[in-house]
Amino acid sequence: MANNNIRIAYFSMEISLQSGMPTYAGGLGILAGDTLRSAADMNIPMVGVSLLPRRGYFRQQLGHDGWQQEAHVDWIIEDYLEEIESRTSVNIEGRTVIIRAWKYCLSGGGGDKVFVYFLDTNLPENSAFDRSLADFLYGGDSHYRLCQEVVLGIGGVRMLKVLGYNQLQRFHLNEGHASLLILELLEQKRKLDGDAQVEQMVRDLCVFTTHTPVPAGHDQFPLSMIASVLGPEYSMAGCEDHFCFNNKLNMTYLALANSRYINGVAKKHSQLSRQMYAGYRVDSITNGVHAATWTSQPMQRLFDEYMPGWQMDNLSLRGALNIPTSSIQQAHQSAKKALIEYVNNSSHTGPDKKMDEETFTIGFARRSTVYKRPDLLFTDIDRLKKICAKFVRLQIIFSGKAHPQDREGKLLIQKIIGLGHKLNRHINIVYLNNYDIALAKLLTSGCDLWLNTPQPPLEASGTSGMKAALNGVPSLSTMDGWWLEGCIEGVTGWGIGVPSTLQNAPTQYLQEAGSLYDKLEQIILPLYYQDQEDYVDVMRHAIALNGSYFNTERMLNQYVTKAYY
Ligand SMILES: *Cc1c(COP(=O)(O)O)cnc(C)c1O
Repeated sequence: MANNNIRIAYFSMEISLQSGMPTYAGGLGILAGDTLRSAADMNIPMVGVSLLPRRGYFRQQLGHDGWQQEAHVDWIIEDYLEEIESRTSVNIEGRTVIIRAWKYCLSGGGGDKVFVYFLDTNLPENSAFDRSLADFLYGGDSHYRLCQEVVLGIGGVRMLKVLGYNQLQRFHLNEGHASLLILELLEQKRKLDGDAQVEQMVRDLCVFTTHTPVPAGHDQFPLSMIASVLGPEYSMAGCEDHFCFNNKLNMTYLALANSRYINGVAKKHSQLSRQMYAGYRVDSITNGVHAATWTSQPMQRLFDEYMPGWQMDNLSLRGALNIPTSSIQQAHQSAKKALIEYVNNSSHTGPDKKMDEETFTIGFARRSTVYKRPDLLFTDIDRLKKICAKFVRLQIIFSGKAHPQDREGKLLIQKIIGLGHKLNRHINIVYLNNYDIALAKLLTSGCDLWLNTPQPPLEASGTSGMKAALNGVPSLSTMDGWWLEGCIEGVTGWGIGVPSTLQNAPTQYLQEAGSLYDKLEQIILPLYYQDQEDYVDVMRHAIALNGSYFNTERMLNQYVTKAYY
C-alpha cells in the first residue's frame, strides 16, 4: 500500500518484532508487535512508530548469589532494519536535533505489508546527549525520558509527514509515552487552519489506550522542564484544568483530554479506569496475542490438520473440541520436550538436578515486580513440601527480568533462587536467565500449567496466559485482568481465591495462598496424575474457548469498529 493510502498511525515506546531485536521491555511492547502483525494479516492500513534502542533494554545475567546484573545488548541494526534517507528534526532546549528512521517490514499471512519506523538520533550532526536518546529503552532520568518522548511524539508526526503519510485519519497512542504528538498535531493544524476548532480536529484524530491501573505509573514532567525542553513554541497556557496538575504535565491526561476514543485493556481494568478518570468516557477492548506467532510448531501442525486457515480466522480455533485428546497430548508433549531440553542444556541458577518430561511442570515467567507476587507460591513452605511429598513429582520453571531500578523486583528473583536451593530435596525449581520472546514461546507452550499471581486489581490485562491457552496450557491465576473473563472454573483452567474478596491486603494474601495450595493439591495434581484424559480436556477447552477469543485478530476488529471507524 502506498504511504498516502495509510490511515492509522500506531505509536508505541516499545514494539517487539522478532527475536534478536531488543526493542521491547515486556507486555506493552509484545502487544504492540502482535497488534501490527494482525494489522498486516487483516490488511489494515496502519503504520507503526517507535524509538530505536541501540543498546537494547538490557540482557539479564543472574549471578550465583541470585542477584540480577544488567548488560548492554549490542545488536546489528542493519541486519533487521533498512535505513531511510529522509530526515526530520525536533527542537530540544533550543538545539535542532536531526532524526532519521529505520524501517521494518512486517508481512501478514496473506502477503500484505505493514511498515514500522524506529526513530534514531544517533547522527554526527547531533550532540553527544542528543545521540544518546537512541540508546536505552526506559533508561536514564526523567529529563532523558522527556527528551525521548519529544523525539517519539513530535519527531514521529514530523517523520510520517516527510515520508508522505499525508492521509492519516487516526493516531493511536499505545499508552501515554507518545502524548506529545498531540501538541505537534495542534501546531500543524493551527498553521493550516488558524485557531478555529483545531482542538476538535485533533481530538477527532486521536485514540488512546491506557494500560496501568495505578496513578504512579503515569509519566509526569515539571512544567519548568517542559518549558526548557520544548521551548516557547508549545505553550501550556490554559492546560491547568485538563492535563497539568501541581505544576506538572501529566501525559496520561494530555491523551485523555485530547482523544476521541479511550479504552482500557480488560473489562475490570476499564471499570477501574472509569473511576480513576471521572468525566472521561472509557470503553473497553480486552487485549489479545497473535495466534500464529505464539502457537508452537507441533500444535500448529495439529491445528492445520483440524482447522485449516485458523491463522487468518482465529475464531475457527473453537473447532479444537474436535481434536482427539490423544493428539492434543502428543503435540503438547513434543512442545514440552523442547522446553525440558532447553532447561537441561541452559545455564540457569537452579540446583544441578535435571528436569524430565513426565513430571508435572508449572511455569511462571513475567517481569519481576512486587505486585506480580512471584513468591506467593512460597507463602507456606511446609504446605508446599507436603504437597510435593504427596505427589512426589513436581517441577517449577521461573523466568523474568526486574527493571534495573526496581530493587524489590530484584530481591524477589534472589529470594526464589535461594528457595530453589533450599528446597532442592523436595522440589526441582529453576530460574532461567534473560526472559525474552523466544523463551516466552518455549515456556508458554511447554509447561503443563501456567501460574499467575498478581495482586488484584493491579494487573491491567496480562497476556502470557493467552499465549499459554493457544498452546493448550491452562492457567491457574488470581482473579484479575483478562483472567476474570477467561476463567471458566475447571473448564479453561482454575481461579485462585474469589473475585469479590476485598479484605485488607495481608488477609487476602494468606487466603489467596491457601486457595492456590488447595487447587493444586485437591484438583489440579490429582487430575493430571490420575485422570489424564480429563486434564487434556481442560487443555482442549483452553484452546477452543480462550485461544479463539483472546487474540489480536478479535482485538483489532474491535479497534476498527469502535475506535478507528
Ligand atoms: C508475553 C510476555 C510478557 C507479558 O507477560 P504478562 O504475564 O502478561 O505480564 C512479558 N515479557 C515477554 C518476553 C513476553 O513474551
